[in-house]
Amino acid sequence: MSPLRIGNLDGRLVRIVGDRAHDVAADSEGRFGPDPMSAYAHWETFLAWARGAPPGAGEAFPAERMGPSVPRPGAVYAIGLNYRDHAEEAGLDVPSSPMVFTKFRSCLAGPAAAVPLSSERVDWEAELVVVIGRPATAVPVPEALAVVAGYCVGQDVSDRRLQFKDKPPQFSLGKSLPGFGPIGPVTPLADLADPLDLAITCELDGERVQQSRTSQMVFSVPELVSFLSRHATLEPGDLIFTGTPGGVGSVRTPRRYLAVGEEIVTSIEGLAPLCNRCVAGAA
Ligand code: ZN
Repeated sequence: MSPLRIGNLDGRLVRIVGDRAHDVAADSEGRFGPDPMSAYAHWETFLAWARGAPPGAGEAFPAERMGPSVPRPGAVYAIGLNYRDHAEEAGLDVPSSPMVFTKFRSCLAGPAAAVPLSSERVDWEAELVVVIGRPATAVPVPEALAVVAGYCVGQDVSDRRLQFKDKPPQFSLGKSLPGFGPIGPVTPLADLADPLDLAITCELDGERVQQSRTSQMVFSVPELVSFLSRHATLEPGDLIFTGTPGGVGSVRTPRRYLAVGEEIVTSIEGLAPLCNRCVAGAA
């Protein structure tokens, strides 16, 4: 049976089963949707409905019509240096507590959106993205997965020129240009065999440049959720970009950056992949 995925088609909440999208507002007679954010505001009741309700006819759709599955999160947290091999390749120590910044939500884009290159030094970062499904304050690590609705694949596209132009660096700004946060449809957490150990890869025009497993994170998803919830109140629909494994372009010898026309395919086991083409940015 095809897995259930939750997405955004033309700005409307959809269930995606196989290659067809099913409009939630139509199928639920207005109980949920059409705003994609409504799925996360009442996640448990929505998910129970989504699993049980018979879908209507649905429609096949080109991926380009898909928007970000979570278009207006209250907060987008992102974690730096959360894989040991990425910290090592960057010549930096592994942090002793999660290194947190934000991606401004205006950068969020759909799973097949174009990535406008804002400079000649734009880099790729394949990342697992956590979608919060319940309000959470000071949640202990063993209970942290219970506040997670699901996961999606994300790209933390980064303009290294802007990011490192000054000291201290501009993490949030350099990672929030238009199109710099493509995210895919959401897979419910319960549908993953082992949500703490998933293969993650990034390919550029078919060449594999990143390959790891999410079990290699320095701070696991439950540890990140618990840590963040001790310092900020997590709300349904909030996103956490959980960091990227080794293999980014800016610390390679020679350095490598994204080029116009290049296709970035970002994949995580059990989740719907992203396929984003690089285009020329505004001059
Ligand atoms: Zn990142």
